[in-house]
Amino acid sequence: MMGILAELKQGINKEMEKAVVAATKELNGHGQSKPIDLPPIPTKLMPLNPWQFAFAARVAELIRFAYSRGYAVTFAEARVPKECIGCAKVGTNRRATSLHFDGLAIDLNLFKDGKFLQNTEDHRELGEYWESIGGCWGGRFNDGNHYSLEYAGRK
Ligand SMILES: [Zn+2]
Repeated sequence: MMGILAELKQGINKEMEKAVVAATKELNGHGQSKPIDLPPIPTKLMPLNPWQFAFAARVAELIRFAYSRGYAVTFAEARVPKECIGCAKVGTNRRATSLHFDGLAIDLNLFKDGKFLQNTEDHRELGEYWESIGGCWGGRFNDGNHYSLEYAGRK
């Protein structure tokens, strides 16, 4: 049995392609509405909690922006349990310092016109927007679908 990620990597099938195009069209209009009020990003080292709220609010804004530009997204890796530190998984950051363990990073699968966009450069428009609202884009270190909020020097 093939997993969903393996299927995505082999190219989305026709039904999924139609669904992605329809979802993109339906949601595009919402991108034009008023941006949400983002909580401030904490400026000095504090407990994680304020960062997690600031991060989640920015991910909402990033997804809204993506749809306003004709993209569709799904979640790939979001928060990862600490038990997974050291787990082997190809293409996935398993270093103990990964912000995925802290709820401060998300990897997004990106689609446009029914196509699954897998290259770092494909994420540039979103990545630069993400940086403009205080985020850290993985495209700066060859990890284009990684969106995080820097914490304690980690990205
Ligand atoms: Zn990541």
